[in-house]
Amino acid sequence: MTSTLLPGNVVYGGPIHVQDAQNYHSLGQLIMDKYKSFGDQTVIIDAVSGTEYSAKFMYDSIVRLAQILQKLGIKHNDVIGLSSENSVSFAVAMFAGFAVGATVAPLNVTYSDREVDHAINLSHPKIIFASKITVDRIAKVAKQNKFVKAVIALSGTSTNHPKVYSFMELMNNDKYKTKPDFTSPLANKTEDVALIVCSSGTTGLPKGVQLTQFNLLATIDSQIQPTMIPFNEITLLTVIPWFHAFGCLTLVTTATMGTRLVYLPKFEENLFLSAIEKYRVMMAFMVPPLMVFLAKHPIVDKYDLSSLMVLLCGAAPLSRETEDQIKERIGVPFIRQGYGLSESTLSVLVQTDDFCKPGSVGVLKVGIYAKVVDPDTGKILGPNERGELCFKGDGIMKGYIGDRKSTETAIQDGWLHTGDIGYYDDSLEFFIVDRIKELIKYKGFQVPPAEIEALLLTNEKIKDAAVIGKPDEAAGELPMAFVVKQSNIQLTEEDVINFVNERASPAKRLRGGVVFVDEIPKNPSGKILRRILRDMLKKQKSKL
Ligand code: AMP
Repeated sequence: MTSTLLPGNVVYGGPIHVQDAQNYHSLGQLIMDKYKSFGDQTVIIDAVSGTEYSAKFMYDSIVRLAQILQKLGIKHNDVIGLSSENSVSFAVAMFAGFAVGATVAPLNVTYSDREVDHAINLSHPKIIFASKITVDRIAKVAKQNKFVKAVIALSGTSTNHPKVYSFMELMNNDKYKTKPDFTSPLANKTEDVALIVCSSGTTGLPKGVQLTQFNLLATIDSQIQPTMIPFNEITLLTVIPWFHAFGCLTLVTTATMGTRLVYLPKFEENLFLSAIEKYRVMMAFMVPPLMVFLAKHPIVDKYDLSSLMVLLCGAAPLSRETEDQIKERIGVPFIRQGYGLSESTLSVLVQTDDFCKPGSVGVLKVGIYAKVVDPDTGKILGPNERGELCFKGDGIMKGYIGDRKSTETAIQDGWLHTGDIGYYDDSLEFFIVDRIKELIKYKGFQVPPAEIEALLLTNEKIKDAAVIGKPDEAAGELPMAFVVKQSNIQLTEEDVINFVNERASPAKRLRGGVVFVDEIPKNPSGKILRRILRDMLKKQKSKL
């Protein structure tokens, strides 16, 4: 990857040489054809049960489910919800959805009723696939939303619930006569949405990021670079949830490359390490808390991790110390940071052998343009000048579903404004230094402060509230609240923490604590001045 600095201080990552995927008539067809071509090769391994799935198994299952989906009335551009931890059925359901030209909307499995309700009211899925741990919640919320016609339970047999069907029973039901092959409908690739993932963007509540078939196909092409080892010879471990853009896109891109993908449904220390040892994992996609675990946890020494060649870390900043500790302890030769957003499909910046300075997020990937903009004046800045990072390229989302205003704020003249502050140096290597958007990241998961603030304000004992991220070595940031109580009432820190715990998913818990204040600092138009709150926090810390 060789970047160039174009006139007007625009950095360009160079052309995408491979255009095989984007020339395909649809994303679903590409995935089916690839699986068909890989035949008996093992492509997915469930590290908990040890079950290995061949590409042929994936192909046959996708082809069958796609036809059943059509018989159930799912058409091109309908939306399918998917609420499951990582599992082979997750992959089959998503790829069958792509095969019929539908849009797939993955849902965080830890979502509360309120969060599921918000998310499905963005995407309006006709059916929702749900795993054992989420099916009751999904069925309950689906009942209140008429647009959901059916819930398909990914494990178990039929239930008493009128809307819930069993995946296994559907797949094995002779009533559905299906053919051994299937052709996906012709896609309008730049318009048809393949995925809707949740992201709050720079401000406000979670929104539905629409990634088109073209966004995904072009991203697949951009991954195929002369790497050290061809992707079909790699065993890759993924524990990052597939309902998050990072995990989901890992699944999609590796499916087209014949990679042996070892998955875990959730992070569990021994299982994670034993999977690396047992399957001789060469590469793993990581987030900083997992890296801290590898760097520090005593249990790591008990396992043979010598097969690990590459750790690719993204979603939040990774410290240099952690990287060095892992290199020293395990001897992994390549630790690479990447940077991207749900809104940009996958990483737009990645470290390479030649560009991996301490603290950098690397260089632009092929097909991507970047500029650094002064957030106050809008002036485009040059090398070594800090400002908001903006990106342009084939992976930039179509927009937030049903939210033109937020889309127009996020994408201006084709440039995605990230809300992240950074710069590039003289060798066009990028560094992230700050975030001007509200977003908090807890262990790589998005925590939108506006959502917790709105939730806190539904408590009649709370007059006003503001939420910020408290820096934390292991988690990155911990959500913490500044709260103004109504006068003459009793309200403890514990009451506030419990109030949130009962209504929000675990990542949103106020692990950073609650500080009671007389007033929330705001500008004249009522916008919370988070910078002042962060300064208050720093002062509080320095007094300790
Ligand atoms: P998400 O859409 O959930 O992937 O979140 C995207 C945001 O995560 C970015 O806008 C950054 O604020 C943050 N982020 C992702 N990767 C990195 C990284 N390598 N270093 C620092 N921040 C990152």
